Amino acid sequence: MSGDTALWAEHVAWPMGTRCVTHVDLDMFFAACHILERPELAEAPLVIGGDPHGRGVVSTANYVARRYGIHSAMPAAQALRLCPHAVFLRPDGALYRPRSRRVMEILAAEIAPVLQRVSVDEAFVDATGLDDPVARARRAQGRILEETGLTASVAVATTRLCSKIGSDLRKPAGFVVVPPGQEAAFLAPLPIEKVWGIGPRTAEALHAAGLSQVGELAGASPAHLAGAVGARRAHELRAMACGHDDSPVRTERSPKSYSAEHTFARDEGDPHVLWTELREMAEELAGRLVAAGLAGTTVGVKLRYPEWVTATRDHSLSHPVDEAEAIAREAAGLMRRHWERRPLRLIGLRVSGLRPAPAYRLPPTAARPPLIPLKRARSSQVFEDAFRFLSETIDVGGDPWQIPNTAGKARERVPRCAP
Ligand SMILES: [Mg+2]
Repeated sequence: MSGDTALWAEHVAWPMGTRCVTHVDLDMFFAACHILERPELAEAPLVIGGDPHGRGVVSTANYVARRYGIHSAMPAAQALRLCPHAVFLRPDGALYRPRSRRVMEILAAEIAPVLQRVSVDEAFVDATGLDDPVARARRAQGRILEETGLTASVAVATTRLCSKIGSDLRKPAGFVVVPPGQEAAFLAPLPIEKVWGIGPRTAEALHAAGLSQVGELAGASPAHLAGAVGARRAHELRAMACGHDDSPVRTERSPKSYSAEHTFARDEGDPHVLWTELREMAEELAGRLVAAGLAGTTVGVKLRYPEWVTATRDHSLSHPVDEAEAIAREAAGLMRRHWERRPLRLIGLRVSGLRPAPAYRLPPTAARPPLIPLKRARSSQVFEDAFRFLSETIDVGGDPWQIPNTAGKARERVPRCAP
């Protein structure tokens, strides 16, 4: 790549109010995850992808393998021919997902929660208006390495295009800053193919018009450019080449709520059975929340009685929750207050007021145990606490969760998990 990339790696005090987009891209992510599990693979040419004896495709190759000319999207069979002694491994999502999630949490906590996850190993974060976004990006990069063992390449710029291109410039573990106002100069020496929306056909037309670098695109006369790609495209491309790109960092479209419900085969009035259902639904909803990186500020129950009268009751919390235990507790409280103590045809649970969870769950400085299987770690504790809660409720309140003919049953089962 031409151009003095060293120019773009300095620390820059970001003017307050200037747009700031950070792009983070993990280096050879899949391969890196396998190497963390099996460090002896670090020195070997390593290819993650499909069957090299079949029609598999390379999804990631480590840097050793890349020296043999192996790269992603290449047929695995070709990779095998290039490097017969390479180690070929199948992709393993279970290895990648928790690390990816952790990285996204770190980005949200250290930089900003306005985060667009482009893929499992890549995200844009919008830190506009926050103090010292460059230092934030640095801290995030350091913490990713510290907590996951993964290296990330990072770029800070005023636009998505510049940050995306910047993070690719100095892999691995690159850190590139494109200072505000320097976008056009940063882009100028790059080949035009780097600009979004310039596919092979457009590139061909531009090359034919004698334009091969982004700077030439920016400097071309509108008529010349329009002659090559048409007036409208010419306008767009020039704008891009001059560093104008106001495409927003789009956070994933968040659902407004998660809910689950269960219809009983026969109308159900046993508080223990109802509680079991609620607990399971709380587990399910918590799993979905954690997977989506969300937490909810309102918990609600839906109670449908045999004559099809349906009551929904909810409770807003002072802070968002994403854990089964907390959701189940809220549900229990709602049942205590609103259940009419007669059989139900259907019971439902809902968490709404969803918002990104990490900023709340994860204070920037808090040390968290890395990569534990959250759901499993939680569930036993959740049930234990929930049962304890239920037994306390019954013992203290007397009335809630009990109807006379099933009280004994509920009581009998509850202490099993109570202390
Ligand atoms: Mg990557």
